[in-house]
Amino acid sequence: MAGSRDFGSLRAPQITERLGPRSILVLPVGAIEQHGPHLPLSTDLVVAEAVAGEAVGAVGQEVDAWLLPALAVSKSNEHAWSGGTLWLSASTLLAVLHDLGRCVATTPARKLVFLNGHGGNSSLLNVACRELRLAYGLQTFLAHPGVPPDQGGASPAEELGMGIHGGLEETSLMLHLEPSLVDLSAATRNVPEGLAGNRYVRFGGPVSFGWLSNDFGPTGHIGDPTGASAERGKERFDAAVRAFAEALDEVRRFDFGQA
Ligand SMILES: [Zn+2]
Repeated sequence: MAGSRDFGSLRAPQITERLGPRSILVLPVGAIEQHGPHLPLSTDLVVAEAVAGEAVGAVGQEVDAWLLPALAVSKSNEHAWSGGTLWLSASTLLAVLHDLGRCVATTPARKLVFLNGHGGNSSLLNVACRELRLAYGLQTFLAHPGVPPDQGGASPAEELGMGIHGGLEETSLMLHLEPSLVDLSAATRNVPEGLAGNRYVRFGGPVSFGWLSNDFGPTGHIGDPTGASAERGKERFDAAVRAFAEALDEVRRFDFGQA
């Protein structure tokens, strides 16, 4: 989807011919993890690759962005209980990101953007952003297709703000992107209603908490996918692509504002 802006398609001499210090390398970060009975393991990978690919394809030329091959497996240990989930430990993923940052630093590009499809990676990716800034002098950025609800992002009212995993939005996105991989007949509502009244200890609240996806029941998803639709998914997808494309333009112009 990134077409001529696909990093892996460049030949070795083109790295120095075509990349410069303002070039932006975009790394989609996906996951292969249980997503309830109705969505495929690859959901976060599909979404991250699609949003990154579409945005870089649209504005890559203009903002000098390039699409790196996606990191398919990441830190999904909240789903470790579910057979088939592939996950890296926090220390392994941090080491992988360190290694990739070191490789990026061998190119003329100085801007690296993580487009993260899996909310469970966010804290670690923020740590990696700073580590790579210090270790290799890269300008590093973390973006999401949408801010995850457990980090203060929005989730529709029907889900009481708790469509964390395999809920209405994510299921709709998949109905738009890969409908043959979705079994909507298996979708059920699974919302931890007891948390909704909490002022502090809640998803995206001032007091966060450690959780595993089976803390909320055996199905593994958290949210209400039953009303999901491809139309809603297309709307969300287009909005996510637009927002990420706009963000890339700010990344291009970003500096630390020193006089
Ligand atoms: Zn997901």
